[in-house]
Amino acid sequence: MKKDSSSNSARVVTLIPGDGIGPEVISAAVAVIEQTGVKIRWDEQLAGMAAFKRVGNPVPDALIKSLRQTGVALKGPLETRVGEGYRSINVYLRKTFNLYANLRPVHSFKGVHTPFRDVDLVVVRENTEDLYAGLEHQITPGVVESIKVITAKASRRIARFAFEYARREGRACVTAIHKANIMKLSDGLFLKCAREISSEFSEIRYEEQIVDAACMRLVTDPQSFDVLLLENLYGDIVSDLCAGLVGGLGVVPGANYGDKGAIFEAVHGTAPDIAGKGLANPIAAILSGAMLLEFLGHAHESRRIRLAVGDVLQSGATLTRDLGGSATTMQMTDAVIGAMHSSASSAADRA
Ligand code: ATP
Repeated sequence: MKKDSSSNSARVVTLIPGDGIGPEVISAAVAVIEQTGVKIRWDEQLAGMAAFKRVGNPVPDALIKSLRQTGVALKGPLETRVGEGYRSINVYLRKTFNLYANLRPVHSFKGVHTPFRDVDLVVVRENTEDLYAGLEHQITPGVVESIKVITAKASRRIARFAFEYARREGRACVTAIHKANIMKLSDGLFLKCAREISSEFSEIRYEEQIVDAACMRLVTDPQSFDVLLLENLYGDIVSDLCAGLVGGLGVVPGANYGDKGAIFEAVHGTAPDIAGKGLANPIAAILSGAMLLEFLGHAHESRRIRLAVGDVLQSGATLTRDLGGSATTMQMTDAVIGAMHSSASSAADRA
């Protein structure tokens, strides 16, 4: 992976290859971004298990320093051991940099065969509290408590983010998803704040749905959703469900936004079952890179990547195994780069 490919005008972006399939898919995203001609100097940093093995710390000081300086990162997945070891680094980074909004655009691609067509929804997930506050303790052996924290401040902030996003992107409806029939105080507060903010956006329809009913509706009528507004845990679960609607974790990008910066990362994890084999689908990472470019003010280049990805998926000639093909990560990446160049002249026609 290229480091210090600097010119004076290059924007510095922290690059975190991550664990498992991370280095493979992040290399793909970097290769595609470089084809756009946007000048970026990648400040490559270790994190997660890769860092733990190298320097004995999953969140090295150099990583934090780089993130503070650049304010923006392209990141691969990081390994978090289930039920043991250090806390989730993803959660740590989101909290440390107050990246309170997680955004995951989920839409169908022509050529990716799924039970549904024309899904086009966006998951907006609160990123800083809920059961992810990590407040767990054992009361007595065999009895533990895990505390769910919901505040009005964070709830209003994420609701405002969702409505502002909907307004900016011309979206028609925001659906707040909850379980306030059971968690009357916590989810009740979340809903109260969402309602309050919704009143400032009269042109956007606001609706509410209980999370179990929303899941049922998502797997029967996903086209009826537009922007989904969720607390942290429901958002985590529903995001993966939504990825399944459009072809799986290999095609859904994501971003974590705060007031001072953003980290771009695919929805998927480290996929240890296929790591190091060249089988990972790089599309989610490549599309996360496209979101990064848009954030940096390069909307045209971002769109060029998205169109090329659409062309490759629609043609169906080069698909990774998760999409029913036999292409490697590298072949898929080359196909996207090829499509960027071959469709460059026709892109204007589709504008
Ligand atoms: P983690 O513990 O890091 O979340 P995981 O394996 O539990 O890892 P994911 O990494 O999200 O969760 O993977 C879930 C499944 O989806 C795995 O079978 C994995 O191989 C597959 N998968 C995830 N990402 C991709 C990808 N980019 N390309 C192909 N398959 C993928």
